[in-house]
Formats: sequence, structure tokens, C-alpha cells
Amino acid sequence: MIRLTGVRMGPREERLVLEVLRSGHLVQGPMVERLETRFAELVGVRHAVAMSSGTTALVASLEALEVGPGDEVVTSPFTFAATVNAILEVGARVRFADILEEDLTMDPAALPAALTPRTKAIMPVHLYGYPADMPAIEASANGVAILEDAAQAHLARIGGRAVGTWGIGVFSLYATKNLTTGEGGIVTTDGDGLADRLRLLRNQGMRDRYRYEIPGHNYRLSDLHAAVGLPQLETLAERTERRQKNAARLNEGLADLEGIRLPQAIASREHVYHQFTIRVTPGGPLDRDGLADELRARGVETGVYYPRAVYDYDCYREHPLVDVTPMPIAERAAREVLSLPVHPWLSDADLDTIVRAVREALGV
Ligand SMILES: *Cc1c(COP(=O)(O)O)cnc(C)c1O
Repeated sequence: MIRLTGVRMGPREERLVLEVLRSGHLVQGPMVERLETRFAELVGVRHAVAMSSGTTALVASLEALEVGPGDEVVTSPFTFAATVNAILEVGARVRFADILEEDLTMDPAALPAALTPRTKAIMPVHLYGYPADMPAIEASANGVAILEDAAQAHLARIGGRAVGTWGIGVFSLYATKNLTTGEGGIVTTDGDGLADRLRLLRNQGMRDRYRYEIPGHNYRLSDLHAAVGLPQLETLAERTERRQKNAARLNEGLADLEGIRLPQAIASREHVYHQFTIRVTPGGPLDRDGLADELRARGVETGVYYPRAVYDYDCYREHPLVDVTPMPIAERAAREVLSLPVHPWLSDADLDTIVRAVREALGV
């Protein structure tokens, strides 16, 4: 079976983790600091602040922007639940602006209708590693703070400028993301005050030992985790290129097939292919789940991210702080998306197998 995700650790990760174990300095030591410094350099920001997960990083970022009860946050209806859970965690109301048919990220034209005088932040999601149209979102934001959910989009760029620099940027370092520490997250910002607040929030609001300035959390990343991520920072660009090359081969092999639509990637917005996600369109020979079954039978694992619009669960539909207005483009996408393997460890033979399997399943 050709797996959807590939995670490989090498001797450099092993050596650094062992170094931490032997040092006895397991938390908030030199590895976390090195991870932060290097990640900030790669993204091109003044500060990177590591956290225990992408979700806690989202929560702390909302708090750093002073988003709380009575405030509203506008986000994408087609995202992982963590995006919504983070907003609810700080007690704010969730509103949605529907996505664009072409690229499944927030539609800048849908944004103004979702803004109210209580909107305190806008949270676009760079889904599958493709940057949302940040210049247009910024222009529609009317001065409201922007928090980018860049959990899936490490080093994705718009016109050469990395995601995570348009607003506060939040990246996940979860096991299957393009850059991983196992569990972890990291926040990017140019704001000295914001970075200071984020550092306080992650460590119980404590400036120095037992000098508390704000009520905070324990959102710290351990040095063991940071040690897993450090060597990967040096290979991230190369692994991203491999994802892009794999995507190019899939695009070429699957071009012009009836019944599917390939992921959009316009040249000025660099896709880092956390996922290679096709749409299985109505009227074709198979529906999405039918194609997934056929591919599994041919040895190709696929994934559905995500099977429903994020609000389309009872726990959110019935939630007093979730504004559930039907989002037709997100709902249609949820029925049609299918992610094919694109990870850096696929061989040329694997890519050929994937292309052949899709073509056979569609009867061409
Ligand atoms: C993974 C992910 C998160 C959450 O990150 P964790 O590290 O798993 O907490 C948030 N948003 C999106 C879009 C994600 O894919």
C-alpha cells in the first residue's frame, strides 16, 4: 500500500534527542531557543514562539490579540476543528466567510458581509499548504487583526513573502505536518509586544520566577520535542521541493481527466503541498468515495480532509457561540475532495502507480 503520509526520522534527530536526555535540561532549554531562532529566520520575522501544539498556539495568539467573550472571529468553514475550537476556547463567537471554489481558501469577497463591529480577528486558513489570498484579505479586513492558520503551510509564499508574515502566523508541528516535533506549534510575529505576551502566556504568565503578570497557561514545548524538529528545519526546503515535484508529476499524469479537477496553484502563490487534493466532480464515472475505494483496491491510500464543513456537527450546530449559516461552497467541497499521496518519500514508481490507479479507476 502506498501510504498517504510518510514520516522519517534519521540519525541527526536521534543524536539531538539523546543530547537532551543526557543534558538533563528537558524543558525551555537551548533546543527550543534554537528552533525558534532558525524558524524565525526561515519565515523572515523578528520572533518565533514555540508552543505545545498548533491548537494551543492558536489559543495563545487569540489571547495575545486580546480576543475574548463578546468578540467575534471570522474564519473559514472548511478547516480542521482546531481552528474553531481555539476561538471557542477564548470565549469568542465564530463566524464564517465561505471559501473560493477554485482553491478552497477564504473568499476575500465573502469577508465584508461576515464582519461586524465586534469582529476582533480574521483567521484565514492556508489549506493543504496553499496560501489564502492574503493581499486581498488584508484589503478587505478593514483594519481588523489577522491571524493566519498556517498549520499546514510551512514556508508557503505569496510573491516571495512567507505566510505567517501577513498577520500573526500559527504553524502546527504535529506528527504528520510538513515540519514536525511529534506534538508542537510555533507562532510568528514581527511585534515585540505580541511576542512578549505570547511568551508570558505559554509559561503561566510568569515574567521571572514567581513574578506573574497575567493569568497564563502551561503551553511550553519540551526540549525533547524541539530536538526532533531542529534537524528537519535544515531539510524542510528540500523536502518541500520534493513535494512540489511529486505534485507536478501527478498534475501531468492526471491532466484533462473527465470527472476530476486538479488542485489550483497559480504561480505567484507557492503551494507547499501538505496535501495534494483533487475534486471528484459530479457527473463523472465515480463519486468521491467510489474513487477512494477503487484506489485502495489498487494499493493507494487516500484521505478526505474534510468530510463535512467544520460547523456541520451537532456540537457546533447547537453551540450558542457558533454562527451557523449555510456555506454552500464549503459543503460541496466536503463531498468532493480527495487527497492523494504526495509526501517526499514517494518513489517515481509510486507516483506512476498512483497515476495509473486513478486513470484505471476512471476508465481511461
Ligand atoms: C493541524 C492543524 C491545527 C492544529 O494543530 P495541532 O498541532 O494538531 O494542535 C490547526 N489548524 C489546522 C488547519 C490544522 O491542520
